[in-house]
Amino acid sequence: MSRSGVPITLSHPRWSDLTRWPLLGRFLRLRHARTIAQTVLLVLAALVLYDGFFGPPIAPKNLAGVLPWVHWRGLVVLALLLAGNLFCFACPFMLPRRLAQLLFRPRRSWPRWLPGKWVAIVLLVTFFWAYEAFDLWASPLLTAWVALAYFVAAFAIDGFFRGAAFCKHVCPIGQFNFIGSLVSPTEVRIRDASVCQRCRTKDCIRGRFDRDGRLVQRGCELGLFQPAKVGNLDCTFCLDCLHACPHQNVGIRWRFPLRAETDPDSLRSGIGRLSGRHDWATLVVVLTALGFLNAFGMVSPVYHFLRWLSQTLHVTREPVLLAIVFAGGLAVLATCVTLASLATRWLLPTPSPRWSGMRFVYTLAPLGFGMWSAHYLFHFFTGALTVLPLAQQFAVDVTGRALLGQPAWHLASLLSVAATTDLVVIVLALGYFGSLFWTMRLGSRYRLGFIALLPWLGLNTLLFLFGIWLLGQPMEMRGTLLG
Ligand code: SF4
Ligand code: SF4
Repeated sequence: MSRSGVPITLSHPRWSDLTRWPLLGRFLRLRHARTIAQTVLLVLAALVLYDGFFGPPIAPKNLAGVLPWVHWRGLVVLALLLAGNLFCFACPFMLPRRLAQLLFRPRRSWPRWLPGKWVAIVLLVTFFWAYEAFDLWASPLLTAWVALAYFVAAFAIDGFFRGAAFCKHVCPIGQFNFIGSLVSPTEVRIRDASVCQRCRTKDCIRGRFDRDGRLVQRGCELGLFQPAKVGNLDCTFCLDCLHACPHQNVGIRWRFPLRAETDPDSLRSGIGRLSGRHDWATLVVVLTALGFLNAFGMVSPVYHFLRWLSQTLHVTREPVLLAIVFAGGLAVLATCVTLASLATRWLLPTPSPRWSGMRFVYTLAPLGFGMWSAHYLFHFFTGALTVLPLAQQFAVDVTGRALLGQPAWHLASLLSVAATTDLVVIVLALGYFGSLFWTMRLGSRYRLGFIALLPWLGLNTLLFLFGIWLLGQPMEMRGTLLG
């Protein structure tokens, strides 16, 4: 029975809902669970900012040179693969954002002429180009400036626009997490559909108000109405819906990754149909291309390629060369998607190349995320233990005394390079199988023969082989003293 008195039929077992687990469930149901997690990350972010601005300029010896680029990125993809969108749940940028909402009580809507994900897509491309062009990973000071800019942007945007404008339209990390959470094994979901049918108040989206009309619990700021929500896209795991629902009808449920997400024609609350969303389709292409470009930027053949490009085009400035590489990489993948769409139309009488392109383009997402995961996990497993000497060094820098012992700089890898390489190849292969699975599901959903799927199976296979080649190249050990 819920707190409102409406009976809930819980047909699924207790273990299948994280909010019903003994300790974890109790924590997740705490009204301020998210604030506690955000505060922990805010403290870590403050340490990163302090060391970035005032600590040693050598990246592997500075918290800002290691925690964001080795630990945070690795843990984000690990969490997405094994649990869910935990970073958005614990996002420290939410605290200044909430402060801005309290201070300014914004009423303006996000401008209609900046719809969907377009701002975030531009920021994503700019950020990853700048990451390579200005070697952000090697500069604790620049890293600290980027982190500070992020806090200021979250504060300014959500102080000006109502709702979750920053998360939904601007935050590049959020968009990365939304696409990554397609393959996550959990989802924020209703427990009993019949309870939602009988529900009169719909607090999960409207929010809960007291007798005087004051808002006591926000509903979903991302505009996802629980009974009509499909999958994880746009869900920040903020759990506002869980706390707002008067019938305790929302939980965090285990699921088979991808299965609920593969239909681009299903009507998703807050999103609409993916098959009609050019911004989401572009986001998938951009994130997939950037996943491969970002890994390409770390392997030794990139230096030969840049030298050749420089001599051929007579361009010597690295930022310009990298801009050309990024534009070229994005254009190559966009062209491949267009050719695959044309080939599908040619092989079978599908309505149009655009029709197949706007559906099958999403099949790239698991492989693209597999590439990101393989890359980030490589750095994580080869550099995770650097956190110990870093903490020791930080104590020395701040207090002048070796409170945690002398820095043990010999500590770096959690796994050997050989074991890590095997592991990341498996991760990439899982992404590839996810893409194949999605392609086959679409083939069966639209009753297309196997022949019509060949262009997409071929494109995913080519990208997978390119990823295997990338992972086999000598890679820079960024963020560790082994490099
Ligand atoms: S999830 Fe939303 S619609 Fe369903 S019972 Fe709760 S408040 Fe009502
Ligand atoms: S309130 Fe919206 S964004 Fe937050 S967990 Fe619920 S569905 Fe996801």
